[in-house]
Amino acid sequence: MVVNNLVQRAPVKREQLNAWLEQQSPQQVVRWAVDVFGPGLAMTTSFGLSGVALICMLQEVTRDVPLVFVDTGYLFEETLETKRQIEAAYGLKVLTWRPRLSIEAQARQYGPNLHACQPDLCCALRKVEPMRRAMVELGPIAVMNGRTRSQSETRRNLPLVEWEQTPVRINPLAAWTRRQVEGYVRMHGAPHNPLHEVGFLSVGCRPCTRAVREGEHVRAGRWAGLGKTECGLWTTNYAAPDAPRMYIKGGEK
Ligand code: SF4
Repeated sequence: MVVNNLVQRAPVKREQLNAWLEQQSPQQVVRWAVDVFGPGLAMTTSFGLSGVALICMLQEVTRDVPLVFVDTGYLFEETLETKRQIEAAYGLKVLTWRPRLSIEAQARQYGPNLHACQPDLCCALRKVEPMRRAMVELGPIAVMNGRTRSQSETRRNLPLVEWEQTPVRINPLAAWTRRQVEGYVRMHGAPHNPLHEVGFLSVGCRPCTRAVREGEHVRAGRWAGLGKTECGLWTTNYAAPDAPRMYIKGGEK
């Protein structure tokens, strides 16, 4: 099976496939992912603007792909309300994972300001560990998300498909600009976070997010002054030998 070869055995062909996908629209990439990975596909989202655009595209193809969300306990109420509005608008239930430690328990164990003193550790406890659990429990072969190249310097070379990751990561909006994402969300009337309207172009946890100032980059308000640009969700490989193997079209179950 060609796809199996592409996924598992032939890195040169994966590059060819990525080059072909670059010629497709994000909607076509979403359809391709649903067709190829079937019930082995999941989507992760934090309900940022590009995530909302991707949810909107995905719902036009299928409502069967599980949506994975990590609630760190530090999120803005506006983000949680956006999640509720998306669930109501599309009639779906987002699957939510939470950290093992409550904020209070974390404060007792590590002090009250771990996010300021050791933000990498805080993100590892409150974002990466719950996401790892989600990946082990769901066992997807591929995971879609809304990252784009225009979001930050660290994402400027983001490929449409990251075959070397486990699960495989699919970034259908990689080539889109902020303006394209905004236009798509507006055109489809999709619910979105009202904080975007008041300068919070990228919205994470309350203690680590501020509004972006004139001329600053989209993610400049995340961990401002801490020299940190990524939470670790996307720099972690979730390879989990015990995770159940799911389905890939034409391949093993
Ligand atoms: Fe902690 Fe901030 Fe990371 Fe949220 S973004 S998990 S508060 S360090």
